[in-house]
Amino acid sequence: MKPIPYSAEILTVGNEIVTGLVADTNSGVITRRLDSLGISVTRHVSVGDDKEEIAEALKQALERVDCVILTGGLGPTHDDITKQVLCRFFNSGLVTDAEVKRRIDSIFQSRGIETPQAAYTQAEVPEKATILHNAQGTAPGLLFEKNGKRVYSLPGVPLEAEHLLETYIVPHLENLSTVKVQHRILKTTGSPESVLWEEIGPVSPFEKYVKVASLPSLLGVRIRFTASGKDSKETTAQLDAAEKLLREKIDHHIFAVDDETLEGNIGDLLKKKKGTLAVAESCTGGLIGHRLTNVSGSSEYFLEGAATYSNEAKQIRLGVDPALIEAHGAVSEEVATAMAEGIRQKSGSDFGLAVTGIAGPTGGTPDKPVGLTFIAVTGPQGTRCEQFRFHQDRVRNKERAAQAALNLLRLYLSK
Ligand code: ATP
Ligand code: MG
Repeated sequence: MKPIPYSAEILTVGNEIVTGLVADTNSGVITRRLDSLGISVTRHVSVGDDKEEIAEALKQALERVDCVILTGGLGPTHDDITKQVLCRFFNSGLVTDAEVKRRIDSIFQSRGIETPQAAYTQAEVPEKATILHNAQGTAPGLLFEKNGKRVYSLPGVPLEAEHLLETYIVPHLENLSTVKVQHRILKTTGSPESVLWEEIGPVSPFEKYVKVASLPSLLGVRIRFTASGKDSKETTAQLDAAEKLLREKIDHHIFAVDDETLEGNIGDLLKKKKGTLAVAESCTGGLIGHRLTNVSGSSEYFLEGAATYSNEAKQIRLGVDPALIEAHGAVSEEVATAMAEGIRQKSGSDFGLAVTGIAGPTGGTPDKPVGLTFIAVTGPQGTRCEQFRFHQDRVRNKERAAQAALNLLRLYLSK
């Protein structure tokens, strides 16, 4: 029999959330933490500061799951009504909690002010609740237990919600789920999502082992596998099986796993080859050098990056022949190639990488439109140049060009 995971829903309260004034980050933070404990978070619900809405959402959630975690509306102001709703819901009166009162006084004392009367309303707590003392603020969290189900109520302030999550909720719930859940993210770039999935084929063979999510972004598509089983040996075996299947289809597109980065893995490839690298950048303006040097230890292989933006810089720094620029234009296969070979020669590196393109929004022509980019990589196995066309705004085109350049270098080094 497959074990059933302990289940939870997150209920965020606040007009600022449902009107879009404040983005709900609490749900994501709480869910990621519970997920790591094998708890299945099945729904996020947001409601405004309205007693009926909150009560109705809580009632419905309790019909579905073992545990509901609320955030928001616990403060002392007129719009903070979660506590009242919970009192009515659980049929509980209020009592003054001496320990909460003492903590409130000490918070105001440390600020050198007398405790405002309104703050003492926070010391009035539902008699049926367990108090979750809040070391980061004045509003304590609350826990109600009924019919084997739990309802936690946390302050809305993210720092306070997270503090109570770690201090109380995680220790309470960490052994309740008998299911181990594990994720693995395979990061790809260079192929749009629809094209990538044509190469991968149907998802059903993967679903024998894992759940599959496809997460496209500007710089590539991440494929996330989720395995659940009785222990990490079982989940790791399922993830390994799914990863093997995926690599049989699209290994060349996968540049990193989980926390690995493209620039970090390029560093590893260079160190393995004992090779050095220099970069000449036009339209990316130094972004590639920035990313490469984000890696600690990159001085072992990264010799230099030149942001050769003007034609003169390309001539003086890289030795690009002005006649080549005259004949083909600065954004051309010929100039990209000359830039890569030029920086390699001038720096004495083993590998050279160069980018030249039109980031936009101006500067495009009918035969050289905005987004047209040439990327060249050179080294002991010769020079390779590829043409790209990006369709975003200026900053995003630069980011995409840097990503494509690093990926071309990765593929060259992987050969
Ligand atoms: P306080 O004691 O500070 O009043 P509270 O429990 O009453 O705490 P709210 O008044 O609902 O909490 O929210 C306080 C602040 O926390 C809001 O102004 C908002 O910026 C932030 N906040 C509330 N809910 C969320 C959420 N779901 N995600 C991220 N931030 C939130
Ligand atoms: Mg408030």
